[in-house]
Amino acid sequence: GGSSEGEGALVVGTEATYPPFEMTDDAGNIIGFDIDLLKAVARATGLEVEFRDMDFDSLVPAIQGGNIDIGASGMSITPLRLKQIDFSDPYIEAGLVVAVGGSSQGITGVDDLKGKRVAVQQGTTGAAKSEELLAAGKIGSLKYFPNVSVAMMELLNGAVDAVINDKPVTQAFVAKHPGKIKIVGGTLASDEYGFAIAKGREELLSQINEGLRLVKESGEFDALIAKYFSSAE
Ligand code: GLN
Repeated sequence: GGSSEGEGALVVGTEATYPPFEMTDDAGNIIGFDIDLLKAVARATGLEVEFRDMDFDSLVPAIQGGNIDIGASGMSITPLRLKQIDFSDPYIEAGLVVAVGGSSQGITGVDDLKGKRVAVQQGTTGAAKSEELLAAGKIGSLKYFPNVSVAMMELLNGAVDAVINDKPVTQAFVAKHPGKIKIVGGTLASDEYGFAIAKGREELLSQINEGLRLVKESGEFDALIAKYFSSAE
């Protein structure tokens, strides 16, 4: 519903089933670390933002086509995406991990995935990494889902053997399903999240970067880290 938002509001796209970065509350409001952070950045710089829930793999085309102004969706800054869009300064470190069922025995890390069924969220760094592994014969098969919650449900149901996904989000699913999911091995690849915008929007880019700087300086950033990640690590 964005009828109450001002006409000048920037439209922010997010895939809102990626806790704790973006999710919905019981009333259907989009909440999470990225949402609070971008709201704080907007407050600090006089920008107005409204959020729109969409598929993760629609974000880059929507930014390129001008349908949304900003992507705030746990989006990793990658060389491939940097050819298509711009990113703000990085605001958090992530990286990929392998998750398996809580009682799984044989898989102790990415090297044990030969012949195994792996689930990923389409259009993500986890999917790209898994495609490399598949091409190299290091996993058995790959199943794509529009969001990670569904991929994790497949793991809980035993329909796949592993999920490759970002560490902080996987940790949140592990915490939510104690004993049913576990992380095996170390981080496969580390990366950083940034807010995504179209190329050529220099003013918006510098406003967002300035906002990030202000929010870090004021202590708001650390307060958000504490709010959303106090139980992780
Ligand atoms: N960080 C990963 C990526 O950028 C996953 C993001 C997500 O699923 N929201 O591809």
